[in-house]
Amino acid sequence: MAHNHAVPSDLTRNQGLVLGALNSSGAPLSAYDILDALRADGLRAPLQVYRALDKLVERGLAHRLESLNAFVACADEHCDRKQLTAFAICTNCGKVDEFTDAVIEDRLGEWAGARSFKIERTTMEIRGKCGQCAALA
Ligand SMILES: [Zn+2]
Ligand SMILES: [Zn+2]
Repeated sequence: MAHNHAVPSDLTRNQGLVLGALNSSGAPLSAYDILDALRADGLRAPLQVYRALDKLVERGLAHRLESLNAFVACADEHCDRKQLTAFAICTNCGKVDEFTDAVIEDRLGEWAGARSFKIERTTMEIRGKCGQCAALA
């Protein structure tokens, strides 16, 4: 089950707005989607959104999905303690499921150990159909 982070009290106004937009979205948002959503709140410049996103990603409150060039709120409050973060991305409805898996992490650890490769962080993006969309097909 997903456990959203508690919203830290020391976020700037823009960071709070951006995190709120990500939390209330059912799908990943691009920086421009976020800007559009927050125009009514006074955000005008893409740079305002990018700065807030940088900080949120740095603090582990949001993630950037490379394959979509979009952002999601982190759905795992213990995310920063884990080495592996995986995202199952539904290409039909856009739903993203963040999860981690100890077996995959162990296998990668063995692989890396055998090659003296020091893993800092692993991010997997898995594309396909979520259970609901697959059932409709
Ligand atoms: Zn996370
Ligand atoms: Zn779906």
